[in-house]
Amino acid sequence: MKLNIFNKTRWDGKVIRSLVLRGLREHGIEDRCDVVIRYERKGSSICGLAAVGGRWMELRLPREQGDPLLVVKKLSSTIDHECLHLRGMRHRQFPAHARYCTTRGAPWHPEDCRGIVLIPEPAAPSLEEKRASKLAHARGMLAKATTRLKRAATIEARWRRRVKDLERRSGASPEALIEETLKLVAGSSS
Ligand SMILES: [Zn+2]
Repeated sequence: MKLNIFNKTRWDGKVIRSLVLRGLREHGIEDRCDVVIRYERKGSSICGLAAVGGRWMELRLPREQGDPLLVVKKLSSTIDHECLHLRGMRHRQFPAHARYCTTRGAPWHPEDCRGIVLIPEPAAPSLEEKRASKLAHARGMLAKATTRLKRAATIEARWRRRVKDLERRSGASPEALIEETLKLVAGSSS
């Protein structure tokens, strides 16, 4: 089952997913389904839309939190209704219990379902929290810069040793080498 839920609301998506999955399975729909969750423009009702014989439904929930158990029962009842449309049925073919959204819930409504709630918006960070997070970031960047500096110093020291070693082996005194270098510079600029 490939179930895509596009939740445009703050209603708990986990609860919605588990209910839709249960509904689809109860109706023998096992392949795939796209479900969009939106806020209903007005009122506290819950409603839905679905493609007859298709694999798409939209569920609309209120903006305000109601009784979590009542909301979830209306939701499962709506999902049940939309699943019948997905199976290719139109309203006149529906069993009576599935014609309207009810407060009893779907026939398969899980007994242990604890309801559904709106997840609150995360609080905006305070000035102190913002500063603390900026400081932590700056400390991290400083640590990285220090590491780069140490690494560069290590590389520089390694090449310095290598140059000294090669100079010693070639038998030339450092003074002579400096002379050579100066001559080369003078030659190239004339
Ligand atoms: Zn309908």
